[in-house]
Amino acid sequence: MAVPHTPFTATVLGLPRIGPNRELERAVEDYWAGTIDADRLHAAGHELRLAHLSVLAAAGLDSIPVGTFSYYDQMLDTAVMLGALPSRVHDIADPLDRYFAAARGTDAIAPLAMTKWFDTNYHYLVPEIDRETRFSLHPEKLLSELAEAVELGIPARPVVIGPLTFLQLAEHADGRALDRLPEVLPLYQDLLGRLADAGATWVQFDEPVLVTDLTVGELAGLRTTYAALSSTQHRPALLVATYFGHPDSALAALADMGIDGVAVDFTAGTTVDAIASVPALTRKLVVAGVVDGRNIWRTDLDAALSTLGSLLGSAGSVAVSSSCSLLHVPYSLTPETTLDERLRSWLAFGAEKVTEVGILAAAITHGTNTVAAELRAARAATESRRTDPRLHDNAVRARLAALTPGDTTRAPAAERLVKQRAHLNLPLLPTTTIGSFPQTSAIRSARAALHSGEIDDAEYVRRMRSEIDDVIALQERLGLDALVHGEPERNDMVQYFAELLDGFAVTEHGWVQSSGTRCVRPPIMYGDVARPAPMTTDWIGYAQSRTDKPVKGMLTGPVTILAWSFVRDDQPMADSARQVALAIRDEVADLETGGARIIQVDEPALRELLPLRAAEQSRYLAWSVQAFRLATSGVADTTQIHTHLCCSEFGEVIGAIAELDADVTSIEAARSRMEVLDDLDAAGFDLGVGPGVYDIHSPRVPSVEEITDALRAALKAVPRERLWVNPDCGLETRRPAEVEAALRNLVAAAAALR
Ligand code: GLN
Ligand code: ZN
Repeated sequence: MAVPHTPFTATVLGLPRIGPNRELERAVEDYWAGTIDADRLHAAGHELRLAHLSVLAAAGLDSIPVGTFSYYDQMLDTAVMLGALPSRVHDIADPLDRYFAAARGTDAIAPLAMTKWFDTNYHYLVPEIDRETRFSLHPEKLLSELAEAVELGIPARPVVIGPLTFLQLAEHADGRALDRLPEVLPLYQDLLGRLADAGATWVQFDEPVLVTDLTVGELAGLRTTYAALSSTQHRPALLVATYFGHPDSALAALADMGIDGVAVDFTAGTTVDAIASVPALTRKLVVAGVVDGRNIWRTDLDAALSTLGSLLGSAGSVAVSSSCSLLHVPYSLTPETTLDERLRSWLAFGAEKVTEVGILAAAITHGTNTVAAELRAARAATESRRTDPRLHDNAVRARLAALTPGDTTRAPAAERLVKQRAHLNLPLLPTTTIGSFPQTSAIRSARAALHSGEIDDAEYVRRMRSEIDDVIALQERLGLDALVHGEPERNDMVQYFAELLDGFAVTEHGWVQSSGTRCVRPPIMYGDVARPAPMTTDWIGYAQSRTDKPVKGMLTGPVTILAWSFVRDDQPMADSARQVALAIRDEVADLETGGARIIQVDEPALRELLPLRAAEQSRYLAWSVQAFRLATSGVADTTQIHTHLCCSEFGEVIGAIAELDADVTSIEAARSRMEVLDDLDAAGFDLGVGPGVYDIHSPRVPSVEEITDALRAALKAVPRERLWVNPDCGLETRRPAEVEAALRNLVAAAAALR
């Protein structure tokens, strides 16, 4: 039985929660440190939520998401709501402490695993579901956030992660994900009734999993789920939200159900034609994500209006929306006072996107003349961006056009290897690290002092050089073979380069939640990329002058620079990647000229940009591999190219790793017990490899024995001539004492096996 409902016209799919000045991040960390109590933490959350509600209502949104607030993560919140926390935290009596124990562990309890939310840079906690999981409904958080809004007369729309996405993203110890649908559906039905009682007229179920390739079984699960939920007698109108891609066949399946609306992402592949091809949508509300919720560009309002206009005949009604939650963009442009004025006029952060939604909704409900001035301003910004000379650097474009296949090819690996052996003269099982050493408080305060003008450049360089001295001396003392300078001068492995490259801008306050209380400040790639001057040669050259052992030149690869930035939306990513690659290629050449015998180009984000649908993956892998090869193929055979990969399961990208043709690949492996080596082997990879022999995420110091065992396991998959010995990732987050002890054991383990 369909419930009569009034469609709305303007909304966003979800809200950020860290606070405009990262207030929540601070409050949560204070709570962990014991300096504030639970009441103070709750008060901080309450205040942040209220601030949002009034701003959104004032902007003209007539349906406002609630429940997207979180002290840590929305998947974890959903696990709590469904009674699905792992049994190892059950004994913690206090609900908040239990929640945080699941999120970040305690001395005695391992936390849930964390992984990337689709192809974004946000990380969610992976619920663990097994035979002991007894689902039960605990909707208190959502109900209280709903009540808080209803009390203010806000048209609140509770948002929950839908059953399909929740189950499919969880880790299941046994059985298939959707086998658990019969257990969770009654809880979701129960929830619908509770929300209706509490005054919700609409509810939003987030189902981003519907933009991935679904099996026949999963499509059947979709029908079961939404048949059951829409036939719930007592419920609010039901909106199913898809985002980050095109729902494809899931769209028609959804529309056949008795749900009341679907949200679709017009910034990520959904087209007006796709909507028109589903007749059942003429009876539904289509929430049109025309304002990009993941990128920071101002919306072309004319283009958005034309999309909205052509939708009208194909949908029962249309609402304007962001394409996804605003979680993925910074709060507001207001505090960005030092951005170039023109660039600033091209941007829209969270607050500005809300305003855009309001303008578009006013235009379609009351006519474009009611917002004529706003539309004119948007047009002027679009035009200013389109014609800005910084978007086209002819020299860069000419160089790219003149490239030949030879520019992305090196001599056969075996030939290079012989020459490199002679040139480097390293022992068997060479030891090295991934690059960074601890970012100590001395380093951080030197950077802050430089920023505030308290010290000058010369003093900053002096202090960083003294850090480099220490790190080189430590590595010499420990007996490592390929040394690093420790990266003390880098605030971040992407931002450091963005600050030095033309075509990039950095923000002062553009923080975005990456996971829990961790935030990042992605740079903005807005124009053609060029390298006005060398970026790392002074530091690496200095470090090399302190030792006879080889010091690795250390760079971030093109794919990772793009993955951890906001990128241009006016040219294909592949083109942006080639431009960055060319700049890195020049840096590689300068490092080589300066005497670097090993140059490492990190690509930890290679897996991150992999398209969600299988059919689109090979094109991505082809251009990302080419970008890496363009960056690294300009060197002599004697120069050894390293790369480093981590932060993901490698699955679909294993073949691409071999294609990178790096002489040595250091790769995260400790947590997966070296399985990645067999996968590499199966993909025909036969170059140097350094599987991480211990997990740097934990403060625990690995014993010599443990590392020896890891190496023995590695030697089963890799001949000793190809094996390198290194940790899993950079050491920047570890304490100096932990690093020294761990590396001492690492060197001893390698020596024992030589
Ligand atoms: N070279 C970087 C470091 O050691 C690599 C970081 C990373 O892989 N995320 O910190
Ligand atoms: Zn890493």
